[in-house]
Amino acid sequence: KAQNLGSKIRHEFPIFKNNEKKGDGQIKPFVYLDTAVTGQKPQSVIQAMTKYMETDYGSVHRGAYGVSIRSSKMYEDTREKVAKFIGSSVDANQVIFTKGTTESLNIVAHGISELFLDDKSRIVIPTIEHHANLIPWQQAALRKDCELAYLSLEGKQSSKLKINLKEAEQFITKNTKVVAFAHVGNVIGQINPVEELIALAKKVGALVVIDCAQSMSSHDEDLFAMGADAIAFSGHKLYGPTSIGVLAMKKELVDRLPPYLFGGGMISDVNLEQSLWTTGPAKFEAGTQPITEACGLSAAIDWVESKGRTNILNHSSGLASLFLEKLKNIPDIEVFSPQSGKETIVSFRHKKIHAHDMATILDFDNVAMRAGHHCAWPLIRNLGVDALVRCSFGAYSDGDDVEIAIEAIKNSVKRV
Ligand code: PMP
Repeated sequence: KAQNLGSKIRHEFPIFKNNEKKGDGQIKPFVYLDTAVTGQKPQSVIQAMTKYMETDYGSVHRGAYGVSIRSSKMYEDTREKVAKFIGSSVDANQVIFTKGTTESLNIVAHGISELFLDDKSRIVIPTIEHHANLIPWQQAALRKDCELAYLSLEGKQSSKLKINLKEAEQFITKNTKVVAFAHVGNVIGQINPVEELIALAKKVGALVVIDCAQSMSSHDEDLFAMGADAIAFSGHKLYGPTSIGVLAMKKELVDRLPPYLFGGGMISDVNLEQSLWTTGPAKFEAGTQPITEACGLSAAIDWVESKGRTNILNHSSGLASLFLEKLKNIPDIEVFSPQSGKETIVSFRHKKIHAHDMATILDFDNVAMRAGHHCAWPLIRNLGVDALVRCSFGAYSDGDDVEIAIEAIKNSVKRV
């Protein structure tokens, strides 16, 4: 069933109807293999947002009239839906709407550093993190003059492209106040050992922050039930809109962390000398909320739930394995992926064609893959390369995508 998912649901995505005329004058199907950067949108999400703007659009928590009351209800209903989507142990009061994973991680890193870090503390993160889960901790360490310990990879071979847990045991010591890592990596697609890292952090009483940008659309473990203290993700990687994301935290952190942005909607009182903050998620949601985006996120969660996250994972990883098998038979290809069969991402490079050239050449065949450092400079440097091509699969990907992409990569040699 999962294997057929892509072909069955592709018609739900209007973007795949727009086949493009490329430079050689031929009309070519759109082969989108960059779901890791952002997901395409199903009709149900597009329609929900359009319909909402046509009939119910209004401010949230700011008006006594019809559209505002309906918009406020929709916004809070979405919060409830997000809480259930994260896990049965999660409550709506733990869900904060942000602009995306980046903003979520900045809020939590800033708040934790203000409350819990001093010059005797240690933060532990892997070197292979996306910049969004690296720079905020680097800044926190600089501000608080505390130590930032980086976990390396076990090695450079495929089977060793995983976080070094022995090192984690050594680094996560009594003075460690926070351990932050991605659930799934955005460059090599590794699924990190969440349970083991949480256990090591809990042993020393450290907080656990998990970047779920890559995992939320295809992994359904309740990370809070497993012991996470905060998680972050983006709507646009969940087949939903841009400019909305989530920071979910344990209730105690929602109550205690200081706000990050100041302005309307996050106060309980303001006078000319000082201001008092409101309680709950609103404390972190200064300014006009991402209202239409919340409506889109709600529709995206319905869409993902209707397909099933396990189905999406099995389908996407099945196609990634098929792609990998064929890719490895092409001369001069070097693969950078754990190759466990569970990844939905395959990163690679061609020994004779630079990654950026490869991505440009693939576009001649209307094949979209990302090339570059993938917002993870330390990882790219550690792998001894300057750029990689990344092929990533999603719910709508299908076997034709694999065939066309493989042919395009084979043809690239003739085109340079
Ligand atoms: N973390 C990871 C693992 C990601 O893949 C991304 C997006 N590339 C982010 C964080 C940042 O997400 P956003 O740009 O939506 O804030």
